[in-house]
Amino acid sequence: MTTSADLLIDGVWRAGGDGRTAPLTSPITGEHLADVVMATADDVDAAVTAAAGPGADAMEAMPPFERAELLHRVADLLTERADELAATLTLEQGKPQHTEAADEVAESAEIFRWAAEEVKRLETPSLPGADPNKLVLTHRKPNGVYALITPWNFPMNIPAELVAPALGGGNSLILKPSEFTPLTAAGMIQAVLDAGFPPSAVHLIHGDATAGAALVGHRRVDGIGFVGSAATAEAIVRSAGLKRTLIEASGNGPQIICDDADLDAAAAAAVYGASFAGGQCCVATERLLVQESVHDEVLERLVHHAATATLGDPRVEGTVIGPLNNQLVAAKVDAHLADARAKGATIVCGGERAGGFPTDLYQPLAIIDGVTTDMLLFTEETFGPVLPITTFRDDDEAIALANDSNLGLQAAVFTSSLKRAFRYVDRVRAGSIVVNDSTDFWEPHPPFGGASRTQSGWGRIGGKYTLLDMTDLRTAVIDIQATRD
Ligand code: NAD
Repeated sequence: MTTSADLLIDGVWRAGGDGRTAPLTSPITGEHLADVVMATADDVDAAVTAAAGPGADAMEAMPPFERAELLHRVADLLTERADELAATLTLEQGKPQHTEAADEVAESAEIFRWAAEEVKRLETPSLPGADPNKLVLTHRKPNGVYALITPWNFPMNIPAELVAPALGGGNSLILKPSEFTPLTAAGMIQAVLDAGFPPSAVHLIHGDATAGAALVGHRRVDGIGFVGSAATAEAIVRSAGLKRTLIEASGNGPQIICDDADLDAAAAAAVYGASFAGGQCCVATERLLVQESVHDEVLERLVHHAATATLGDPRVEGTVIGPLNNQLVAAKVDAHLADARAKGATIVCGGERAGGFPTDLYQPLAIIDGVTTDMLLFTEETFGPVLPITTFRDDDEAIALANDSNLGLQAAVFTSSLKRAFRYVDRVRAGSIVVNDSTDFWEPHPPFGGASRTQSGWGRIGGKYTLLDMTDLRTAVIDIQATRD
């Protein structure tokens, strides 16, 4: 392990003000990985003060094309260091190293490349004035100092989704990654510094809610980029006041299978959507809505595909599901399964933690049939390898079920009718709707985020959209009278 568990403030990896650390253990083996330095309020203040002073000045003075060049260099470094970063990611997060972790590092490099290219193509409007002597020009300025707060399920991808556009837009930043996955983020930030971004502009602090809250509440922080649970999002928004906020929160993604769908493809996608990242994904298939008339056939195909979702050591080739990341998420999965059992659902497969592993975090894929709308599996985000099935009679009922949630991030519908697909695209409340692929579909550039009237957040992440969110439109009105004869 070559990444540091220290704080990075003003270019120096160092201990915190009070010397406090927290042990980090691997969900795979239970081994002690690091003593992670916990930031104090003074450490947070030191990072923000540097970011708001010399850091902000240095970034604002850096021309966009130079920022783009450095972002490309970050991508090159992540690619060069990919094997080591993927190994670190797996060890602290638990996802399969040779597939998901390797892909995550490659996608993070791609995110830096997207930001680099979008910075160079950031068009802004110019307008005529109603007054013929006036020309209206616009350009984009940095928002200032960003506090970036990220979760543990994609420990490199999500920090990259915020760090790359923040820097591309000319902002300085302080990243606080999840306390469960600090090392991967440290590896990424090291690449950002090695690429040549000013040390005064890029800081890394570690800690839990206390450090996060100190960062959000700091008066010299101008913007907040947050990805995490809806509950934390609410606490952050309450204390953010008038700071700019980009909020990406929880999901409860329905996948809908209509009777005219390719049922085998739909079942395979559902199994993928519940087992990718061990179901610990904001766009996981959290609810499977199946048309009554095809229920039995879909269930049979689900059981068939579930057999390929091998649970095991994620460092070993062929493993599809690694351990859950931590005891908090494991307890939530347990509670949701116990509630479903108590309310009469049928456990088709899985449903218990697997023995014979070094930790008690190994949870095989569970298929739960007969799930009703009063069960926690339906009403809340479970965040584990669980596929709860609820049936519907017609499209109206499917849409009502899909929308029976306070969350609306990404949904999927399987049908062979374009007309039917658009009925769902139009009426299901979600930031994105995938037709004939998994809820887990993701690429780095389309706009992604929570739908309005839900608690999945606001703003859009992805490609140029984060860059637009993290910059401010400056309008210049030019009197051109002097240029006229
Ligand atoms: P979490 O909300 O518990 O923690 C996220 C981050 O917020 C962590 O760094 C944590 O230390 C910090 N934090 C906690 N309390 C805070 C406070 N009061 N003030 C400031 N910071 C605070 O989420 P998690 O368990 O790490 O991640 C899982 C959640 O993230 C799921 O709900 C998932 O759906 C969501 N998520 C959303 C997206 C998306 O793009 N919408 C992507 C990934 C994960």
